[in-house]
Amino acid sequence: MTQPTAEAADLSALLTSRIRDVVDYPKPGIVFKDITPLLADPAAFGAMTAEFVRIATELGATKVVGLEARGFILAAPVAVEGGFGFVPVRKAGKLPGEVFAVTYQLEYGEAVLEIHRDSFQPGDRVLIVDDVLATGGTAAASLRAIGECGAETVGVAVLIELGFLNGRARLAAESPKLPVLTLLSV
Ligand code: AMP
Repeated sequence: MTQPTAEAADLSALLTSRIRDVVDYPKPGIVFKDITPLLADPAAFGAMTAEFVRIATELGATKVVGLEARGFILAAPVAVEGGFGFVPVRKAGKLPGEVFAVTYQLEYGEAVLEIHRDSFQPGDRVLIVDDVLATGGTAAASLRAIGECGAETVGVAVLIELGFLNGRARLAAESPKLPVLTLLSV
């Protein structure tokens, strides 16, 4: 990966200015990162997309996986602009074809993510894209689902990493050398 530049600092400032912290949403103690102001600003949305395209290209990705639901919004333009295929990882029961299902732990209870079994071709290199990396549970489960399909994940790219929740360590436990790229860290 290339070193941070003045341009990268400008990008960070632009993106930071378009993310709204909503305190105690959806429950007390959570600071929700609301990206709707960023999505409403074509300059910021475009700059974020260009950075994800740069990352995907540098990693030699051929497919971009978006995680339901905000990951879809971020990953789809990356796929179109970069010339990659788009693949959704969805919550249980939403995909019509044959799926691989992966169960993972939430703070309370469990959740299931699914991916179509035929999402990839031999040799595909996958970049996972999402808005927020928190505990890393969602991205780690997606990594497993992609692995079930027989594809190689070459990186995880997120807009915001909540460093204090140590999602990076959870991903490293799953795949020690996997690059985890974040546009903003909190
Ligand atoms: P995790 O599995 O804990 O890494 O959580 C990641 C998923 O939950 C992402 O798909 C995010 O969209 C969402 N998420 C977690 N924490 C936040 C937060 N503070 N603000 C916005 N979204 C969040």
